[in-house]
Amino acid sequence: MLKRIKSSAQTGAIGKSLLMPVLTTVAGGAVGALLVTTFLTGPDKAPTDLTVSTTQTQTTPGTQATENAAAAPTETEEATAEISEKEGEVAVAAYVAPAAKNLNELTKTVSVSKGDTLMKVLTRAGADRTESYEAITALNEIFDPRSLKIGQDVTLYFGMDDARESDATAPSLIRVSLKEDVDRQLAAVRTPGEGFTAQETVLELDRKMVRAGGVIQSSLFLSAAQAGIPTKTIVDLIRIFSYDVDFQREIQPGDSFEVYFERFADENGTILKEGSILWASMTLSGKEFSVYRFKTDDDGFTDYYDEKGRSVKKTLMRTPIDGARLTSGFGKRKHPTLGYTKMHRGVDFGARSGTPIMAAGNGTVEFAARNGGYGNYVRIRHNSEFKTAYAHMRKFGKGVRKGARVKQGQVIGYVGTTGRSTGPHLHYEVHKDGRQINPLSVKLPAGRKLGGKMLAAFNAYTGQVRQEVAGVELETQLASIK
Ligand SMILES: [Zn+2]
Repeated sequence: MLKRIKSSAQTGAIGKSLLMPVLTTVAGGAVGALLVTTFLTGPDKAPTDLTVSTTQTQTTPGTQATENAAAAPTETEEATAEISEKEGEVAVAAYVAPAAKNLNELTKTVSVSKGDTLMKVLTRAGADRTESYEAITALNEIFDPRSLKIGQDVTLYFGMDDARESDATAPSLIRVSLKEDVDRQLAAVRTPGEGFTAQETVLELDRKMVRAGGVIQSSLFLSAAQAGIPTKTIVDLIRIFSYDVDFQREIQPGDSFEVYFERFADENGTILKEGSILWASMTLSGKEFSVYRFKTDDDGFTDYYDEKGRSVKKTLMRTPIDGARLTSGFGKRKHPTLGYTKMHRGVDFGARSGTPIMAAGNGTVEFAARNGGYGNYVRIRHNSEFKTAYAHMRKFGKGVRKGARVKQGQVIGYVGTTGRSTGPHLHYEVHKDGRQINPLSVKLPAGRKLGGKMLAAFNAYTGQVRQEVAGVELETQLASIK
């Protein structure tokens, strides 16, 4: 069971009082406890989801428990309003018999350290192992345990819960909560008899569009950072243009850029996070490229497209050679010359010596020389993610040297058998994030060209975006978040 609670940033101090499970121990209820859990959407609203659960022990008369249950919610609301002052955190209030514990003793916040699992964190905070396990199991419905971050706070709420048959005097774990993002709070909450339930609270933030830009002095990164553009946005910007622009070589002083992106703010207007870039433009040596973020409804993918509706991603060729046949695949194999089994980190294409080899995609040559067992070897950097490498060449293509810019399909060399090789073939590798991957099975960045209805929809959309951008003032100095 999962409860999703949406909250709006506009309706006041809701972020602070999203969810208030209130533990009520009824006065005089030494023999029975009453747990009232109230979920509020705001302090100024009536509870929208009020659950009153009564748990009785054999010694408590049923009628008494019911009366208490009916009376409790009003008190609960008051308690909630008081507690909501507590800074940014969901609090638990205890309505207690005089002898019972105070609030501080019931709430514990623990910070995640290196090597921690949620189980370690909870048990370190004093929670019972079984209860921790139950809470974590519920939480895992909405939380990926691998996303637990060092320094992240986990808050535990304990309560006296006589309903538990085990050690009734020890405080039981009632709730575990953690903030997964500035606008997303996750919790596992226990209801007697039902165990833990996952709850997700999403704070709806205000979207603010920003148009920023500037002239590139030395590098795009530096100029964008100087303009106050957040790092995440700059990295996105570079990635979007990485298939078309060689940031090491093509940027000249005086080139300029503009970016139109989302930011999200809370009810006080404080920016909490960055969103997506909707439009960006770069003017390089007087030539302007614009890209638009666009979702194609037919397949549901969102990608960046140029003015003509072509995806900025350029597909890398899986087979950068014509008329060749695959002679050795990717993976473990018995090495033909060394005799032992080793990992083959590329694919081999058998071809006649002298057959032209093409660049699998646009990029910059970062290596073109003799390279040990690889023989004559070329490696091309396509963008921050992908590189391709070509080995055993007889000779290099015209103009192919370190630093040269190559276009997809350009001849970069010719099949040979230089280096450790038994016969003429191309050994071809695709590197993703620095590791060789199987070019024949991996999903390579696929570029799409919009056509028909989708292109018409795109054109209508880009017209709208251009109009929108024109209506927003260009900022050359943004205030940063931190
Ligand atoms: Zn090979």
